[in-house]
Amino acid sequence: MKLHVVALWTVALGCAVSLSLPLALAQAPADGAILEKDIPIKVTEVAPGLFFQYHHQESNNAFLVTDEGVLVIDTRQHPRRAEELLATIRKVTDKPIKWVVNTHAHGDHYFGNAVFKREGATFIAHRDTAGMMKSHLAIEMKRRMGYFKQRQYDPGEVKLVLPDVTFDSKLTLTLGGRTVELLYLGPGQNPGDTLVYFPKERVIFTGGPFSKNSWANPSFTPSMSNWVEMLRKIAAMDVDKYLGGHGDIGNKQDVLHEAQMLADFDAGMREAVAKGMSKDDIIKNVKFEKYKDVRNYYRMNLFISSYYHFLTTGRPENAYP
Ligand SMILES: [Zn+2]
Repeated sequence: MKLHVVALWTVALGCAVSLSLPLALAQAPADGAILEKDIPIKVTEVAPGLFFQYHHQESNNAFLVTDEGVLVIDTRQHPRRAEELLATIRKVTDKPIKWVVNTHAHGDHYFGNAVFKREGATFIAHRDTAGMMKSHLAIEMKRRMGYFKQRQYDPGEVKLVLPDVTFDSKLTLTLGGRTVELLYLGPGQNPGDTLVYFPKERVIFTGGPFSKNSWANPSFTPSMSNWVEMLRKIAAMDVDKYLGGHGDIGNKQDVLHEAQMLADFDAGMREAVAKGMSKDDIIKNVKFEKYKDVRNYYRMNLFISSYYHFLTTGRPENAYP
């Protein structure tokens, strides 16, 4: 199917900072500030009425427009960003926002919830995502402070809006004759990672576990092997378009590439720890350079540090519960 690009525009609001340092020279951002250069937000209709919003620097969303109302996946990093998403939806439809799915409990995917609560939406998330929204709120706020400061967003505007409905393994929704399956295949990047599957459209929104050509923060995962296995399972599904929580639209090869990268990271880290290498030794000598062109590679020191913590203590650095 031909992609229909609905809108393409740069974000004018709050774009005072636009650094274009080569990533190799960029230092790890302090407190979540964003150092990458601006790439315009892109909205694509990936199937009739199903829209994907790709925002390279921050996080992605999707929304399904039907005669009965709208389903929104994830709500962005701040209520102001959520207002922009709502305005984008309103360019397409004036139907009510019926459902919001929060795929995981990272602030860049749910801190805009309050805007859609005001619109009357019912919120759905996995039971563990609901739990993490409460237990990890302070950590998530701290991780986003640099971003709020950079964009001049007031952190006080972020209100915790918890799901109205939770599920454990699978929940099927129908809206305006369309079928949406929320699937839980165990933890990937996070406990509670929810996959939003549109079977007829052969599209899946993958939230935390898959982002095209991106290293993912491993400080939350309780099981790298389940994460890798999940990616291989979703690559085998009847799906043509993989919509990640970050990055552009992916295909099966992109999903399998991430699975292999994580498997290689896991194996390399386990081997180094088994040899008795210290965390600093690993950071200095084990660089996973095969994947140096993958986005976020400049944060590798942090990833090694987090995963070293997991392998040596048996618990993720940002463990839940
Ligand atoms: Zn994210």
